[in-house]
Amino acid sequence: MVVYSEDHREETCRRGRIEVICGSMFSGKTEELIRSLRRATFAHQRVEIFKPSIDTRYSEEEVVSHDNNSIKSTPIDSSASILLFTSEIDVVGIDEAQFFDDGLPGVCNELANRGVRVIIAGLDMDFKGVPFGPIPALCAIADEVTKVHAICVKCGNLAYVSHRTVLNDKRVLLGEKEEYEPLCRCCYQKALKEDMSK
Ligand SMILES: [Zn+2]
Repeated sequence: MVVYSEDHREETCRRGRIEVICGSMFSGKTEELIRSLRRATFAHQRVEIFKPSIDTRYSEEEVVSHDNNSIKSTPIDSSASILLFTSEIDVVGIDEAQFFDDGLPGVCNELANRGVRVIIAGLDMDFKGVPFGPIPALCAIADEVTKVHAICVKCGNLAYVSHRTVLNDKRVLLGEKEEYEPLCRCCYQKALKEDMSK
């Protein structure tokens, strides 16, 4: 008879999984990511965090959310680099995932299949309401998807999109509060009509 110790069972059946936290700007995605990663750290798990090097709004080395609740991260250019950094890691956090290349879902699957818990935060849609980068594919392969919501600045209902308040058609415009506003579907439709008459 073979008796497996608790440790042995954990080693042979490490629970890899993919969790996606998505939503509009100001919806608290990064705060939610940081909260999950902190909890994993308290549970003595080895945590590594990545973000695209395009996002250098605040600091080169930290995932920083709007309430300054920050955690150190590694900026990388390509999703494939994540695999090079994660050989001894239990939990991988990925912030601003919408800016990564289309290889990211494959990388996350690979990590989860190796037993790594992968937690991804990203914008679900761009300012035009179009699904953003690898986020739709990540939602499809995720074990768990959490959609978080900001509050519509016009009516107080749950927001669903980040409306750009400055005239600029570039998809990637790393913005602050002045350049985007969270709106619900109804107020977004009104805002688009107003934009067209400008
Ligand atoms: Zn509204």
